[in-house]
Amino acid sequence: MKKTFGAACAFMTLLVLAACGAEEPMAYRAGNAPDRLPRNSFAVPASVPESIVGAINANREAFYGALRAAVAADSGGLLVLVDKRHALGETYIPPDLVALGTGKAYLLNREGLSLRAAAEASLAGMAEAARKDGVTLVVSSSYRSWTYQKTVYERNVRELGQAAADRESARPGTSQHQLGTAMDLGSITDDFALTKAGKWMVAHGGEWGWSLSFPDGYEPVTGYRWESWHWRYVGVKAASLQREWFGDVQQYMLEFIDAWASYSGS
Ligand SMILES: [Zn+2]
Repeated sequence: MKKTFGAACAFMTLLVLAACGAEEPMAYRAGNAPDRLPRNSFAVPASVPESIVGAINANREAFYGALRAAVAADSGGLLVLVDKRHALGETYIPPDLVALGTGKAYLLNREGLSLRAAAEASLAGMAEAARKDGVTLVVSSSYRSWTYQKTVYERNVRELGQAAADRESARPGTSQHQLGTAMDLGSITDDFALTKAGKWMVAHGGEWGWSLSFPDGYEPVTGYRWESWHWRYVGVKAASLQREWFGDVQQYMLEFIDAWASYSGS
């Protein structure tokens, strides 16, 4: 009987293989490896909490089912890790940028804003849902090129000094805005959290696949102070994965996926 089960697994495709939970890899935290690791195991950065890694290993079948669903739904590059240690190249430009338009339920604080197509489509639907709740979403910043980010960062260094500039803005290549899937809403100040739009995003952003990149109290993890206005589109399934398995911390999820993708060669 056992033998039959194993043979059946061998015939299945990679996606269906996820159902045979024993085949899914074990994760361990870098610098914290158990004495004897299973053959199929990989290290995740130590910044991902022990409790999260433990919960994943304890229920690998359910976790990897949700992970593979989120990755399968990714229309390309939505889950790329971009932070102070993982930079995009100077020449990277998102493949399917579309101009944010007038006549949509969202408003624009200035001209020349754009996002990747999937992010814009989600934003348009989300803004309509917000409007039904009496809330207006106003986009103040979106895609930024490597060169534009360089200008923003250098201006911040001039005005704030190096240390403050690094808390508030990204060096060129390390901004999520270069991905074309991140946007800043409203005032781009802490006051945004207190507005109807700020509260609506916390309550409903995830339902539309948007994730708060730099939550309050996680500066040692993300490298940035709390930014209630900065949202990144990761897709509905990934936002759900983030909430259910990663304590709703985007950085944990993206670091984990980055390590897993390197391990699995995907
Ligand atoms: Zn931002």
